Amino acid sequence: MPDDPASAPPVPEDRTPHRVPVLLPLPFAGPFDYKVPPHLPLALGDIVSVPLGNRRETGVVWETASLPADLTPTDTQAPVAASRLRAVAARLDLPPLPAELRRFVDWVAAYTLSPPGMVLAMTLRLHMHGTTTPATGWLAVAPPPDTLRMTPARLKVLALLDNGTPRSTTDLASAAGVSAGVVKGLADAGALRPVQLGPERPFGQPDAAHNPPTLVGAQETAAQALRQSVRDACFSATLLEGVTGSGKTEIYLEAIAECLAQGRQALVLLPEIALSAQWMDRFKRRFGVLPAIWHSEVGQRARRLTWLGTTDGSAQVVVGARSALFLPFCNLGLIIVDEEHESVFKQEEGVIYNARDMAVVRARLAGFPVVLVSATPSMETLVNAQAGRYRHLVLPTRHGGATMPETHLLDLRDTPPERGQFLSPVLVGDIAATLEREEQAMLFLNRRGYAPLTLCRTCGHRMECPHCTAWLVEHRARRVLSCHYCDHTEPLPDACPSCKTEGSLTAIGPGIERITEESRAHFPDARILVMSSDTLGGPAATAEAVEKIARRDVDLIIGTQIVAKGWHFPHLTLVGVVDADLGLGGADLRAGERTIQLLHQVGGRAGRAEAPGRVVLQSYTPEHPVMQALLGGDFQSFMEQEAEQRRPGFWPPYGRLAALVISAENAAEADDVAARFGRTAPYGDGIQVLGPAPAPLALLRGRHRRRLLLRTQRTIAVQPILRRWLAMVAPGRGIRVDVDIDPISFL
Ligand code: ADP
Ligand code: ZN
Repeated sequence: MPDDPASAPPVPEDRTPHRVPVLLPLPFAGPFDYKVPPHLPLALGDIVSVPLGNRRETGVVWETASLPADLTPTDTQAPVAASRLRAVAARLDLPPLPAELRRFVDWVAAYTLSPPGMVLAMTLRLHMHGTTTPATGWLAVAPPPDTLRMTPARLKVLALLDNGTPRSTTDLASAAGVSAGVVKGLADAGALRPVQLGPERPFGQPDAAHNPPTLVGAQETAAQALRQSVRDACFSATLLEGVTGSGKTEIYLEAIAECLAQGRQALVLLPEIALSAQWMDRFKRRFGVLPAIWHSEVGQRARRLTWLGTTDGSAQVVVGARSALFLPFCNLGLIIVDEEHESVFKQEEGVIYNARDMAVVRARLAGFPVVLVSATPSMETLVNAQAGRYRHLVLPTRHGGATMPETHLLDLRDTPPERGQFLSPVLVGDIAATLEREEQAMLFLNRRGYAPLTLCRTCGHRMECPHCTAWLVEHRARRVLSCHYCDHTEPLPDACPSCKTEGSLTAIGPGIERITEESRAHFPDARILVMSSDTLGGPAATAEAVEKIARRDVDLIIGTQIVAKGWHFPHLTLVGVVDADLGLGGADLRAGERTIQLLHQVGGRAGRAEAPGRVVLQSYTPEHPVMQALLGGDFQSFMEQEAEQRRPGFWPPYGRLAALVISAENAAEADDVAARFGRTAPYGDGIQVLGPAPAPLALLRGRHRRRLLLRTQRTIAVQPILRRWLAMVAPGRGIRVDVDIDPISFL
C-alpha cells in the first residue's frame, strides 16, 4: 500500500510529545531531535525544513534511531534538553517518504556502515536543487517562414513537432539527436513559437496492451513465470538467464506490462552505457511512450520531474543507472536489474554499495519481485539460484533461428602480428574477407588512447603519473599523456625527462587509437568508426554512431567496452578481440569470471540476424581455462570450476569479505594507522584478516593507500565485527578509512 499523508502513522506522542527525530542528509550518526511547533502536525516520513547552525536543511521525520544492538551506549548521543531544542521550520509540500523506503535507508546504512544521513542523501539530494517553474516548450509555426533555410537536422526537429505536442529544447535535441543550438536556431529563425509546458503530466502513460510480442517456447514459459510472480505481489527473486539475443529484454518487458496492469510502478536498472536510445525506442515500441529516465547525463529539470513523478506515481516506469534505486517511489511493484553481473552496479565512492544486491533488499523489505537478468550471471547470483534462494529461468537459444557466433582462438605464438603491430595476419585476412562480403566487422580492445605505456629506449624510464601508481597513457590525437585514474595530463615530451635523450620515448602496447592507425593501413578504403568515451561525447553522439552502424554507413567498428553493451547490429558478422588475455593479469578474485562475461558480451554482438557470426580471440594463453570456456561456449562448466576453487577458502560467495582502505596524504601516517588496524585485528574461528598491505594503487590522486581485508565464513556477519574494530582505532585528522563491504575491486 502506498503511504499517503492521511494514512501515515503519527509520531508516537506518549514518549516524546513535542519533539521529533529528523534525519538530515549529512554524515551524522543518526537523526537529531527538533521541537514540533504548535499547529504543525507532523507524521513519520514528512519532509521538513529545519535550522542547522545558521542555515536551513531539508530532512525527514524519522523513526527514533534503531541502532544496531552491538553499538555501545557511548556511540549514541545524549538527549538534548527539551528547552534547548530548535523548532522544525516548515513541512514541505511533498508526499512523505514511505515507511518501506525509510526502512531501506536504515538497512543500507547498517549494512554498508555508512551514516544513515548519507544514504538518505541519495534519496533526497535531487529535489533540493532545481526549480518548479514550468519550462518553455516549442511548437512549430505553420507554415514555416519562407526565409527558413532547411537542413536535415532542422527537418528532424520539425518532424518531432508534427503531432502538435509542445516539447522542450533538451527533449527535442535529444530525441532528434541534434545539438540544442539547432532548436535555438529554428526559434531565432521564427519557425518555432514558445509555450509554457504544464508541469502536471510530463510522462506518458505506458500502455501494457500496446504492442505485445508473440513469445515462443521457453520465452513464453519464462514470461508466464514472471507475470505470475508480479501478480503474487510478494517478495521473490528470479534469475533470468539466456544467451545474448534470446529475448530476455522482450520477456522482462512482459513482467513490466503485468506490473502496469496491476497499477504499480516498475524500475529497470541498467548499466549507464547500456541506457541507450536503442533501449528507449524498444520500450516505446512495446508500450507506446517513453519511460521516465534517470542517470547522470539527464538535466536537472528532467531529473526533478522524474523524482516528483516517482513520489506521486505519475512516473510509472523508470529506467535508470544504479542511483535510481534510491528514488522515492510511492507504489513500486517490480525491479529489473539488467546485466546484473556488471561491476558498474557497485558504487565505489561515498556510500559504497552494490545496487544489484540492494535492489534485492529493497524488494524484500517492501514485498515485491525482483528479476536479475544476464547472459553470464555473476557467481553470487548463480549460487543463490542453485541454493534455491532465487528462481532460475533459462532461455537456451537465440530468437528467430539466429545461431550463436562461432568462436575461434588465434594463438599469437603461432601467427604473431608483424613487428610493431597488434593484429595477426590471420585476423587481418578474416576482416578483409568480411568486408569483401559487404558485412561489418568489429575490433574490440578495452583500452583507450594510443599506448598504455611510454618508455625511454635509452634509460628505461617509464612515464608515470605524479599523483597515482599508474603509467601515463598516450593519447596521440590530443598529443598528451594522461592518467586514467586522476585528471593529470601533460604534453608528450620530446626528450626523456630522466636521461634527457631526444626522441627516445617509445609507445609500448596498443590502445584503440593505435589499433585504428594499424587498421587504416590495412584497410585504407574501409569506413572506420571508433567507439570509446573519448570519441563519443554523450548519449546523442552514441545514438548517432549506433544509427550509422545500423544504416551500414560503417564497415569496421573499433571500440572499447562501450561496444559490448546490448547493441543490436544486424549486419555485424565478425568480432575480433585484440587482446583476449588483457583482463587476466593481476590477483583479482574475479578476473576470470569478468573476462568471460565481457568477451561473451562482446562476441554476442556478432551474427544477431540471418548471417552467422564469428568471434576471433587473439591470445598468448589459449590453454587458459577462460579461453577454453569461451571456445567451447561453456560458461556453465567454467563457473562450476570457479566455484570449486572458491569454496574451500571461503571466498565469496562461500564466505564474506570486507575491505578497509586507509588513505592519507602522508605515507608514514597511512602506514601508522594501517599498522594500528593490523594490531587490533579481529580473530576467532572462521575470521581472518589479510594485511595491512599497500594497495595495488598505492598512490591515488596524491593519497597513499593501505588495505586490510576481513574474510569470514558465510554464517558470520562482518558488520558487528567491523563496528567493534573501527571503534578501537581513532585515525586522526586527514586520514580516511573507507569500508567496502563485499568488495569487487581490490585496487
Ligand atoms: P536479449 O535481451 O536476450 O539479448 P532481446 O530481447 O534483445 O534478447 O532479443 C533479441 C532480438 O530478437 C531483438 O531484436 C528482439 O526484438 C527480437 N525478439 C526476441 N524475441 C522475440 C519475439 N518473441 N518476437 C519478436 N522478436 C523477438
Ligand atoms: Zn593520476
